[in-house]
Amino acid sequence: MSLSPKEGLDLLCNGDVLALGKQADEVRRSLHPDNTVTFIVDRNINYSNVCVSECKFCAFYRRKGEKGQYLLSNDVILKKIDETISAGGTQVMIQGGLHPDLDFQYYLDMLNLIKKKYRITIHSFSPAEVIHMAKKANLSILDTLKELKKAGLDSLPGGGAEILVDEVRQRVSPKKISAGEWLEVMEIAHGIGLESTATMVIGMGETLEQRIEHMEKVRQLQKRTGGFRAFITWTFQPGNTELGGKKVTAWDYLKTLAVTRIYLDNIKHIQGSWVTQGQNIGQLTLAFGADDLGSIMLEENVVRAAGTSYQMSIDKMVNIIRDAGKVAAQRDTQYNIIRKFE
Ligand code: SF4
Repeated sequence: MSLSPKEGLDLLCNGDVLALGKQADEVRRSLHPDNTVTFIVDRNINYSNVCVSECKFCAFYRRKGEKGQYLLSNDVILKKIDETISAGGTQVMIQGGLHPDLDFQYYLDMLNLIKKKYRITIHSFSPAEVIHMAKKANLSILDTLKELKKAGLDSLPGGGAEILVDEVRQRVSPKKISAGEWLEVMEIAHGIGLESTATMVIGMGETLEQRIEHMEKVRQLQKRTGGFRAFITWTFQPGNTELGGKKVTAWDYLKTLAVTRIYLDNIKHIQGSWVTQGQNIGQLTLAFGADDLGSIMLEENVVRAAGTSYQMSIDKMVNIIRDAGKVAAQRDTQYNIIRKFE
C-alpha cells in the first residue's frame, strides 16, 4: 500500500539512512528483479543561455546583451547531433533559457530540421519553455504541444520542477512558472502521448514537508496520466548563483532518494545522479533505490556553470555498475534495452 504524506514525512525525518536504503532497494527489486541498471547515451544541447526568468539558483543564464550570452546557429546544433550519433547516442535533450526574441517558429524549424536529417529521439523543452513559447505564439498549452509534437518532439524532460511548492518558488525563482503550471503542462503533454520524466531539486532551503508535498503532487498526477517514466532527484549546486548557500550532504541526498523510491510507487524508474554527486555517490544510489544512472552526457552545461563537473564515459559507467554487482545496459529514451554489457 502507498505511503501517506505523513508516513513519507516520518521516513524523511526519522528514518535511519541504511534502513531506508534497504527498504528502497526492496521496492526497486520488486519492480526490476533482473538486477539490470540502465543508462543512456545522449547530449544536452543548450541552444541559448539568454533568459528572462533570472532564477536565483541558476548559474547558467545571462541577460540579453550581457557578456557571455550566446545563441547557437542551426549548423552548430546539427553538428552536435552528428557527433552524438557517431558516439552511439540515441537522444538529444535540447533546452535553453527563456529567450525574449525567439518566436515559436524558431523551435518548430529546429525540430523539423533535425528530424529531416537524423533518426534521433528529441527529448526536449521543459514546461517553462513550453509556456514561454505558448505566450510568444499566443496559443494554448495544448496547441503549443501539438505543434511541437507534429514538428518532431518525442518527449519532455522534467526540468524546472525544482520544488513544486509556490512558497519555495516565489523565493528562489519568482518570475518562473508556478507549481500548478508545471503540472498542467505535464498533464496536457501526457494526454497527447508526450511522456516525460519528473525531477526534484533539493537544497534550496525547502522544508522536508515541502519535499513530500512535491512527491505527493507528482504521484497524484501520475495516478491520472501514467505519463512519468522516471523520477530524478538533483541537488542544488550553489556555486556562482545569486541564491548561494551550502550543498546538501550526500547523506541527505541518499536518504531523500530512498524515500522517493518508496513513496513514488507508481513511477517505474528512479534515476541516481552522478552528475551532481560524482561517481562514488552515483554508484551508492544503486543501493538506495535507483535502477538507472541517467545519461553519459556527451555535453552538459548547466551544472558545470555552477562549478560542478564530473566526467563519464561508457566504459566508466559500465564499470561503476558492474562493481556494484549489477548488469549494465544501455537503454533508449523509452527505457528499452539497446545492449547489455554482461
Ligand atoms: S533555471 Fe532555466 S528558467 Fe531559470 S534562469 Fe536558468 S535558464 Fe532561465
